[in-house]
Amino acid sequence: MLRLSTLEAWREFAKSQRASGRTIGLVPTMGALHAGHESLFDAARSRHDLVIATIFVNPRQFNDENDLRAYPRTPELDERAALEHGVDCLVEPTLEEMWPEYPNETPTTVSVAGVGDILEGAGRPGHFNGVASVVAKIFAITGECRAYFGEKDFQQIAVIRQMVHDLALDVEVVSCPIVRDADGLALSSRNARLSDEARIRATAFSRALANAQSHAASANEMRALMRETLEGEGIDVAYADVVDPVSLESTSDDEAGERRALLAGVLDGVRLIDNAPVMVRARRG
Ligand code: AMP
Repeated sequence: MLRLSTLEAWREFAKSQRASGRTIGLVPTMGALHAGHESLFDAARSRHDLVIATIFVNPRQFNDENDLRAYPRTPELDERAALEHGVDCLVEPTLEEMWPEYPNETPTTVSVAGVGDILEGAGRPGHFNGVASVVAKIFAITGECRAYFGEKDFQQIAVIRQMVHDLALDVEVVSCPIVRDADGLALSSRNARLSDEARIRATAFSRALANAQSHAASANEMRALMRETLEGEGIDVAYADVVDPVSLESTSDDEAGERRALLAGVLDGVRLIDNAPVMVRARRG
């Protein structure tokens, strides 16, 4: 497995591989790799001649200094996971290479209005500007490719798809299913920060979604049901919403059909998110 850290070497490598006729599957990550990330490597591996993974803990997408400081870093384990899951080239750019001005502002920011302003965007100001800016840069350096993202970050995919469309970037975005622990908790690098006791209560997220999926209910009934499940475990709910799966706009109570339930909340000082498809029925009477 080739390891690169400069933008120039990364750009030249991707360019030369494409020139030799190879297709590129790209998997951007922030490291602390787990089976969720590995599923993206596997998906890219199954469709491409070459798999490039990036690891960069992007400070511009953290709206909370403490969250950035506490973000887990496991470089040796990450290298092994990438190798074992068929990554050909692991790129770990330095902060100086990616954002030379940091901690000062980089003059250019990519901002996706609408889908980037609601839900996570409303609760974490600046978060999606940071995500869109770093992903745009990663796409610019890699060039034509398919890029693999997890549905765990459902809104992030919507933001990136919008950006790719609006900027006509030469990238096809592929979304991959959420990988969960046996008890239903969606894998996340942040789960490592939960106490044993909070780790058990965190299953309320997947239970809330399963409750919503198994009850034929209107959008508002589902919202209330999910909120109740989360609050029952002492989770400070940021949102428990039912939305259109493309625009992410809130579903009104008289609509029926396939929607997406999205949850976010803080447990033990750790902000967790989860989501699942749901079938809403129109409010009766
Ligand atoms: P991160 O390192 O958290 O920025 O995540 C990198 C990529 O892995 C993103 O596309 C995430 O959506 C994806 N990812 C994280 N957790 C999971 C999971 N449990 N299942 C599937 N994909 C995931």
